[in-house]
Amino acid sequence: MKKWRVVDAFRHLGAETRDRYAWSAQSPDGQITVLTLWEDEIEDDGTVVRVDYLDHPKLAVWASQRGNKTRRNHLEQVWHDSRTFQVVMLRAQDPTAIPRKAVMRWPDETLTMNLLEFDPVTGAFRAEGARAAISRKEPHAGWSLTELDACVRAYRQLWLAWQEGASVNKSLLRRNVLRESLPKRGEAAYERRMQNISAVIEELGLPFVGGYPPLKNVGRVKDSIITLINLHWARAQVWEKPTANEVDLKTRIASAAQRIAKLSPPSGNKLVSRVTVSSQTFVRDPNVIAWVNESAAGLCEACGDAAPFNRPDGLPYLEVHHVRPLSEGGPDTVDNSIAACPNCHRRLHHAEDKKEFRKAVIARVSRLHDYPKRILD
Ligand SMILES: [Zn+2]
Ligand SMILES: [Zn+2]
Repeated sequence: MKKWRVVDAFRHLGAETRDRYAWSAQSPDGQITVLTLWEDEIEDDGTVVRVDYLDHPKLAVWASQRGNKTRRNHLEQVWHDSRTFQVVMLRAQDPTAIPRKAVMRWPDETLTMNLLEFDPVTGAFRAEGARAAISRKEPHAGWSLTELDACVRAYRQLWLAWQEGASVNKSLLRRNVLRESLPKRGEAAYERRMQNISAVIEELGLPFVGGYPPLKNVGRVKDSIITLINLHWARAQVWEKPTANEVDLKTRIASAAQRIAKLSPPSGNKLVSRVTVSSQTFVRDPNVIAWVNESAAGLCEACGDAAPFNRPDGLPYLEVHHVRPLSEGGPDTVDNSIAACPNCHRRLHHAEDKKEFRKAVIARVSRLHDYPKRILD
Protein backbone atom coordinates (compact mmCIF):
# COMPACT_ATOMS: atom_id res chain seq x y z
CA MET A 1 0.00 0.00 0.00
CA LYS A 2 1.18 3.49 -0.89
CA LYS A 3 2.56 5.43 2.07
CA TRP A 4 0.73 8.74 2.30
CA ARG A 5 2.06 11.93 3.83
CA VAL A 6 -0.55 13.77 5.94
CA VAL A 7 -0.69 16.81 3.67
CA ASP A 8 -0.96 14.66 0.52
CA ALA A 9 -3.68 12.44 1.98
CA PHE A 10 -5.81 15.53 2.71
CA ARG A 11 -5.04 17.05 -0.65
CA HIS A 12 -6.01 13.87 -2.44
CA LEU A 13 -9.56 14.45 -1.21
CA GLY A 14 -9.48 18.15 -2.12
CA ALA A 15 -8.57 19.69 1.27
CA GLU A 16 -5.51 21.77 2.01
CA THR A 17 -3.38 22.09 5.11
CA ARG A 18 0.28 22.65 5.91
CA ASP A 19 -0.06 21.27 9.41
CA ARG A 20 1.21 17.72 9.52
CA TYR A 21 -0.47 17.30 12.88
CA ALA A 22 -3.86 18.41 11.53
CA TRP A 23 -6.95 16.43 12.51
CA SER A 24 -8.98 18.04 9.76
CA ALA A 25 -8.68 20.27 6.71
CA GLN A 26 -10.87 22.03 4.17
CA SER A 27 -10.74 23.01 0.51
CA PRO A 28 -9.99 26.73 -0.03
CA ASP A 29 -13.64 27.36 -0.90
CA GLY A 30 -14.81 25.55 2.25
CA GLN A 31 -16.92 23.11 0.22
CA ILE A 32 -14.96 20.01 1.18
CA THR A 33 -14.11 19.01 4.74
CA VAL A 34 -11.83 16.09 5.53
CA LEU A 35 -11.28 14.56 8.98
CA THR A 36 -8.81 11.98 10.18
CA LEU A 37 -10.34 8.96 11.92
CA TRP A 38 -8.58 6.12 13.68
CA GLU A 39 -9.39 2.83 12.02
CA ASP A 40 -9.85 1.09 15.40
CA GLU A 41 -12.30 3.72 16.68
CA ILE A 42 -14.88 3.28 13.95
CA GLU A 43 -17.40 0.55 13.32
CA ASP A 44 -17.18 -0.65 9.76
CA ASP A 45 -19.16 -3.50 8.29
CA GLY A 46 -17.98 -2.79 4.76
CA THR A 47 -21.06 -0.78 3.81
CA VAL A 48 -21.97 1.35 6.79
CA VAL A 49 -19.35 3.14 8.88
CA ARG A 50 -20.11 4.62 12.31
CA VAL A 51 -18.10 6.80 14.63
CA ASP A 52 -19.30 8.05 18.01
CA TYR A 53 -17.21 10.45 20.07
CA LEU A 54 -20.09 11.87 22.12
CA ASP A 55 -19.18 10.08 25.38
CA HIS A 56 -15.60 9.34 24.55
CA PRO A 57 -13.14 9.19 27.47
CA LYS A 58 -10.68 11.24 25.37
CA LEU A 59 -12.99 14.25 25.31
CA ALA A 60 -11.39 15.97 28.28
CA VAL A 61 -7.91 15.46 26.84
CA TRP A 62 -9.00 16.86 23.49
CA ALA A 63 -10.49 20.05 24.87
CA SER A 64 -7.27 22.07 24.90
CA GLN A 65 -5.63 20.55 21.85
CA ARG A 66 -5.08 22.61 18.73
CA GLY A 67 -6.26 19.84 16.40
CA ASN A 68 -9.57 19.66 18.24
CA LYS A 69 -10.11 23.43 18.07
CA THR A 70 -9.62 23.48 14.32
CA ARG A 71 -11.73 20.36 13.86
CA ARG A 72 -14.47 21.89 15.99
CA ASN A 73 -14.51 24.94 13.67
CA HIS A 74 -14.55 22.78 10.57
CA LEU A 75 -17.36 20.62 11.94
CA GLU A 76 -19.36 23.68 12.89
CA GLN A 77 -19.26 24.72 9.24
CA VAL A 78 -20.18 21.20 8.12
CA TRP A 79 -23.06 21.22 10.61
CA HIS A 80 -24.54 24.40 9.13
CA ASP A 81 -23.71 23.48 5.58
CA SER A 82 -23.46 20.16 3.80
CA ARG A 83 -23.47 17.87 6.86
CA THR A 84 -20.99 15.63 5.04
CA PHE A 85 -17.25 15.13 5.31
CA GLN A 86 -14.60 12.83 3.93
CA VAL A 87 -12.05 10.78 5.78
CA VAL A 88 -8.33 10.19 5.96
CA MET A 89 -8.03 6.90 7.82
CA LEU A 90 -5.28 6.33 10.37
CA ARG A 91 -3.90 3.06 11.68
CA ALA A 92 -2.30 3.24 15.12
CA GLN A 93 1.07 1.65 15.73
CA ASP A 94 -0.02 0.92 19.28
CA PRO A 95 -3.67 1.75 20.12
CA THR A 96 -2.87 1.91 23.84
CA ALA A 97 -0.03 4.43 23.55
CA ILE A 98 -0.60 8.08 24.54
CA PRO A 99 -0.17 9.96 22.31
CA ARG A 100 -0.83 7.59 19.47
CA LYS A 101 1.38 7.32 16.45
CA ALA A 102 -0.01 6.54 13.00
CA VAL A 103 1.84 3.72 11.34
CA MET A 104 -0.26 4.13 8.22
CA ARG A 105 -2.71 6.62 6.73
CA TRP A 106 -4.70 6.82 3.52
CA PRO A 107 -7.49 8.89 1.96
CA ASP A 108 -10.62 6.73 2.18
CA GLU A 109 -11.98 7.58 -1.25
CA THR A 110 -15.06 5.40 -1.08
CA LEU A 111 -16.38 6.87 2.15
CA THR A 112 -18.68 9.85 2.70
CA MET A 113 -19.70 10.54 6.30
CA ASN A 114 -22.87 12.33 7.45
CA LEU A 115 -22.62 14.38 10.62
CA LEU A 116 -25.54 13.29 12.83
CA GLU A 117 -24.79 15.02 16.13
CA PHE A 118 -22.34 17.72 17.04
CA ASP A 119 -21.54 19.48 20.28
CA PRO A 120 -20.24 22.97 19.41
CA VAL A 121 -18.77 23.41 22.90
CA THR A 122 -16.57 20.34 23.16
CA GLY A 123 -16.31 19.50 19.46
CA ALA A 124 -17.58 15.99 20.12
CA PHE A 125 -19.59 14.39 17.34
CA ARG A 126 -21.32 11.33 16.01
CA ALA A 127 -21.39 10.44 12.33
CA GLU A 128 -22.46 7.67 10.05
CA GLY A 129 -21.24 7.02 6.55
CA ALA A 130 -21.77 4.87 3.53
CA ARG A 131 -19.22 3.25 1.31
CA ALA A 132 -19.66 3.54 -2.43
CA ALA A 133 -18.92 0.40 -4.37
CA ILE A 134 -16.14 1.50 -6.68
CA SER A 135 -15.59 -1.88 -8.26
CA ARG A 136 -18.82 -1.72 -10.27
CA LYS A 137 -18.46 -0.58 -13.86
CA GLU A 138 -20.50 2.58 -14.23
CA PRO A 139 -19.13 4.39 -17.26
CA HIS A 140 -21.87 7.02 -17.27
CA ALA A 141 -22.10 7.63 -13.54
CA GLY A 142 -21.22 11.09 -12.26
CA TRP A 143 -17.57 11.71 -11.64
CA SER A 144 -16.48 11.96 -8.03
CA LEU A 145 -14.28 14.77 -6.86
CA THR A 146 -11.53 12.23 -6.26
CA GLU A 147 -11.68 11.06 -9.86
CA LEU A 148 -11.67 14.60 -11.19
CA ASP A 149 -8.78 15.41 -8.88
CA ALA A 150 -6.73 12.56 -10.34
CA CYS A 151 -7.27 14.02 -13.83
CA VAL A 152 -6.47 17.59 -12.82
CA ARG A 153 -3.28 16.41 -11.09
CA ALA A 154 -2.22 14.46 -14.16
CA TYR A 155 -2.99 17.51 -16.28
CA ARG A 156 -0.95 19.71 -13.96
CA GLN A 157 1.98 17.32 -14.30
CA LEU A 158 1.81 17.52 -18.11
CA TRP A 159 1.31 21.27 -17.97
CA LEU A 160 4.39 21.87 -15.82
CA ALA A 161 6.54 19.62 -18.01
CA TRP A 162 5.21 21.33 -21.11
CA GLN A 163 5.95 24.79 -19.66
CA GLU A 164 9.53 23.71 -19.00
CA GLY A 165 9.88 22.06 -22.38
CA ALA A 166 10.35 18.68 -20.71
CA SER A 167 8.72 15.59 -22.10
CA VAL A 168 6.32 13.30 -20.29
CA ASN A 169 5.10 9.94 -21.48
CA LYS A 170 1.39 10.72 -21.85
CA SER A 171 0.19 7.16 -22.29
CA LEU A 172 2.22 5.87 -19.36
CA LEU A 173 0.76 8.62 -17.18
CA ARG A 174 -2.72 7.76 -18.42
CA ARG A 175 -2.23 4.06 -17.64
CA ASN A 176 -1.06 4.89 -14.12
CA VAL A 177 -3.90 7.30 -13.41
CA LEU A 178 -6.50 4.85 -14.74
CA ARG A 179 -5.09 2.01 -12.68
CA GLU A 180 -4.56 3.92 -9.43
CA SER A 181 -7.41 6.43 -9.36
CA LEU A 182 -9.96 5.67 -12.09
CA PRO A 183 -10.55 1.91 -11.96
CA LYS A 184 -14.05 2.25 -13.42
CA ARG A 185 -13.20 4.60 -16.30
CA GLY A 186 -11.85 3.90 -19.74
CA GLU A 187 -9.17 5.61 -21.83
CA ALA A 188 -11.66 7.57 -23.91
CA ALA A 189 -13.38 8.98 -20.82
CA TYR A 190 -9.98 10.02 -19.42
CA GLU A 191 -8.99 11.68 -22.70
CA ARG A 192 -12.27 13.61 -22.82
CA ARG A 193 -11.79 14.80 -19.26
CA MET A 194 -8.28 16.01 -20.07
CA GLN A 195 -9.69 17.95 -23.05
CA ASN A 196 -12.42 19.36 -20.76
CA ILE A 197 -9.69 20.53 -18.39
CA SER A 198 -7.98 22.23 -21.36
CA ALA A 199 -11.25 24.05 -22.08
CA VAL A 200 -11.59 25.34 -18.50
CA ILE A 201 -7.86 26.21 -18.35
CA GLU A 202 -8.25 28.20 -21.54
CA GLU A 203 -11.39 29.95 -20.32
CA LEU A 204 -9.48 31.00 -17.21
CA GLY A 205 -6.88 32.58 -19.49
CA LEU A 206 -4.11 30.05 -18.87
CA PRO A 207 -2.26 28.29 -21.70
CA PHE A 208 -3.52 24.76 -22.28
CA VAL A 209 -1.41 21.68 -22.96
CA GLY A 210 -1.02 21.35 -26.73
CA GLY A 211 -1.81 17.64 -26.83
CA TYR A 212 -5.29 18.19 -25.43
CA PRO A 213 -7.34 20.56 -27.63
CA PRO A 214 -10.11 22.19 -25.54
CA LEU A 215 -13.41 20.31 -25.49
CA LYS A 216 -16.24 22.59 -24.37
CA ASN A 217 -19.54 21.47 -22.83
CA VAL A 218 -17.82 20.36 -19.68
CA GLY A 219 -21.17 19.82 -17.96
CA ARG A 220 -22.03 19.72 -14.29
CA VAL A 221 -18.49 19.01 -13.12
CA LYS A 222 -17.21 22.33 -14.41
CA ASP A 223 -17.37 24.03 -11.01
CA SER A 224 -15.45 21.15 -9.45
CA ILE A 225 -12.80 21.34 -12.17
CA ILE A 226 -12.49 25.08 -11.53
CA THR A 227 -12.06 24.40 -7.80
CA LEU A 228 -9.35 21.83 -8.45
CA ILE A 229 -7.51 24.03 -10.95
CA ASN A 230 -7.53 26.89 -8.46
CA LEU A 231 -6.18 24.50 -5.84
CA HIS A 232 -3.39 22.89 -7.86
CA TRP A 233 -2.39 26.07 -9.66
CA ALA A 234 -2.36 27.85 -6.26
CA ARG A 235 -4.70 30.59 -7.52
CA ALA A 236 -6.21 31.48 -4.12
CA GLN A 237 -4.86 35.05 -4.38
CA VAL A 238 -5.09 35.45 -8.15
CA TRP A 239 -7.47 37.99 -9.71
CA GLU A 240 -9.26 36.79 -12.81
CA LYS A 241 -8.43 38.75 -15.96
CA PRO A 242 -11.08 40.93 -17.67
CA THR A 243 -12.46 39.53 -20.93
CA ALA A 244 -14.92 40.40 -23.68
CA ASN A 245 -15.68 36.73 -24.34
CA GLU A 246 -18.96 35.72 -22.72
CA VAL A 247 -18.10 32.08 -22.10
CA ASP A 248 -14.73 32.99 -20.59
CA LEU A 249 -16.40 35.66 -18.48
CA LYS A 250 -18.89 33.16 -17.03
CA THR A 251 -16.12 30.73 -16.14
CA ARG A 252 -14.00 33.48 -14.58
CA ILE A 253 -16.96 34.72 -12.52
CA ALA A 254 -17.51 31.17 -11.26
CA SER A 255 -13.83 30.90 -10.41
CA ALA A 256 -13.65 34.28 -8.66
CA ALA A 257 -16.88 33.54 -6.76
CA GLN A 258 -15.22 30.53 -5.14
CA ARG A 259 -12.46 32.70 -3.64
CA ILE A 260 -13.72 36.28 -3.56
CA ALA A 261 -14.92 36.21 0.06
CA LYS A 262 -11.31 35.80 1.18
CA LEU A 263 -9.99 38.62 -1.01
CA SER A 264 -10.12 42.38 -0.49
CA PRO A 265 -12.57 44.26 -2.77
CA PRO A 266 -11.25 44.21 -6.36
CA SER A 267 -9.95 47.48 -7.78
CA GLY A 268 -11.82 46.94 -11.05
CA ASN A 269 -10.93 49.10 -14.05
CA LYS A 270 -11.45 52.86 -14.27
CA LEU A 271 -10.71 52.80 -17.98
CA VAL A 272 -12.69 50.06 -19.63
CA SER A 273 -11.18 48.89 -22.88
CA ARG A 274 -13.29 48.09 -25.90
CA VAL A 275 -12.88 45.47 -28.56
CA THR A 276 -14.58 45.00 -31.88
CA VAL A 277 -16.08 41.56 -32.13
CA SER A 278 -17.46 39.89 -35.18
CA SER A 279 -20.21 37.48 -34.31
CA GLN A 280 -23.19 35.80 -35.90
CA THR A 281 -26.61 37.05 -34.96
CA PHE A 282 -30.03 36.07 -36.22
CA VAL A 283 -31.97 38.19 -38.67
CA ARG A 284 -35.34 38.82 -37.03
CA ASP A 285 -38.74 39.67 -38.39
CA PRO A 286 -40.08 42.99 -36.99
CA ASN A 287 -43.65 41.99 -37.97
CA VAL A 288 -43.52 39.01 -35.61
CA ILE A 289 -42.32 41.21 -32.74
CA ALA A 290 -45.01 43.84 -33.42
CA TRP A 291 -47.78 41.21 -33.72
CA VAL A 292 -46.81 39.38 -30.52
CA ASN A 293 -46.59 42.66 -28.58
CA GLU A 294 -49.96 43.75 -29.91
CA SER A 295 -51.66 40.47 -29.03
CA ALA A 296 -50.20 40.45 -25.50
CA ALA A 297 -51.94 43.81 -24.89
CA GLY A 298 -49.52 44.89 -22.18
CA LEU A 299 -49.72 41.67 -20.14
CA CYS A 300 -46.87 39.20 -19.71
CA GLU A 301 -47.88 35.97 -21.43
CA ALA A 302 -45.87 33.90 -18.96
CA CYS A 303 -47.21 35.20 -15.63
CA GLY A 304 -50.22 37.26 -16.68
CA ASP A 305 -49.06 40.40 -14.83
CA ALA A 306 -49.06 43.84 -16.43
CA ALA A 307 -45.76 45.06 -17.91
CA PRO A 308 -43.71 46.52 -15.00
CA PHE A 309 -43.23 49.94 -16.63
CA ASN A 310 -43.79 51.81 -19.88
CA ARG A 311 -41.31 52.63 -22.61
CA PRO A 312 -40.45 56.31 -23.25
CA ASP A 313 -43.15 56.25 -25.96
CA GLY A 314 -45.77 55.20 -23.40
CA LEU A 315 -46.14 51.61 -24.64
CA PRO A 316 -45.86 48.80 -22.06
CA TYR A 317 -42.38 47.31 -21.78
CA LEU A 318 -42.35 43.58 -22.68
CA GLU A 319 -39.66 41.45 -24.31
CA VAL A 320 -40.31 39.04 -27.15
CA HIS A 321 -38.88 35.59 -26.37
CA HIS A 322 -38.58 32.53 -28.61
CA VAL A 323 -39.94 29.53 -26.74
CA ARG A 324 -37.58 27.35 -28.79
CA PRO A 325 -34.56 29.67 -29.05
CA LEU A 326 -33.34 30.56 -32.55
CA SER A 327 -29.96 29.16 -31.48
CA GLU A 328 -31.64 25.79 -30.95
CA GLY A 329 -33.22 25.86 -34.39
CA GLY A 330 -36.54 27.42 -33.38
CA PRO A 331 -38.38 29.44 -36.08
CA ASP A 332 -38.99 33.19 -35.91
CA THR A 333 -42.79 32.83 -36.03
CA VAL A 334 -45.68 33.86 -33.79
CA ASP A 335 -46.33 30.25 -32.74
CA ASN A 336 -42.81 30.20 -31.27
CA SER A 337 -42.82 33.68 -29.69
CA ILE A 338 -44.26 35.24 -26.55
CA ALA A 339 -44.17 38.68 -25.00
CA ALA A 340 -42.81 38.39 -21.45
CA CYS A 341 -42.02 40.72 -18.58
CA PRO A 342 -38.26 41.05 -17.88
CA ASN A 343 -38.52 38.79 -14.81
CA CYS A 344 -40.21 35.96 -16.66
CA HIS A 345 -37.87 36.41 -19.63
CA ARG A 346 -34.81 36.04 -17.41
CA ARG A 347 -36.44 33.10 -15.68
CA LEU A 348 -37.01 31.38 -19.04
CA HIS A 349 -33.32 31.72 -19.81
CA HIS A 350 -31.56 31.34 -16.48
CA ALA A 351 -33.77 29.78 -13.81
CA GLU A 352 -33.22 26.49 -12.08
CA ASP A 353 -36.74 25.54 -13.18
CA LYS A 354 -36.49 26.96 -16.71
CA LYS A 355 -37.51 23.67 -18.38
CA GLU A 356 -40.67 23.31 -16.26
CA PHE A 357 -41.45 27.00 -16.66
CA ARG A 358 -41.12 26.73 -20.44
CA LYS A 359 -43.57 23.79 -20.47
CA ALA A 360 -46.01 25.77 -18.33
CA VAL A 361 -45.85 28.73 -20.73
CA ILE A 362 -46.49 26.48 -23.74
CA ALA A 363 -49.51 24.96 -21.96
CA ARG A 364 -50.79 28.43 -21.08
CA VAL A 365 -50.55 30.17 -24.48
CA SER A 366 -52.67 28.25 -26.98
CA ARG A 367 -51.07 29.59 -30.18
CA LEU A 368 -47.66 28.16 -29.22
CA HIS A 369 -46.19 25.08 -30.82
CA ASP A 370 -43.49 23.07 -29.04
CA TYR A 371 -40.77 22.94 -31.70
CA PRO A 372 -38.08 20.29 -31.18
CA LYS A 373 -34.42 21.18 -30.73
CA ARG A 374 -32.52 21.24 -33.99
CA ILE A 375 -28.76 21.44 -34.41
CA LEU A 376 -27.81 24.40 -36.60
CA ASP A 377 -25.06 23.94 -39.15
ZN1 LIG B 1 -44.04 37.67 -16.36
ZN1 LIG C 1 -35.47 35.05 -24.75
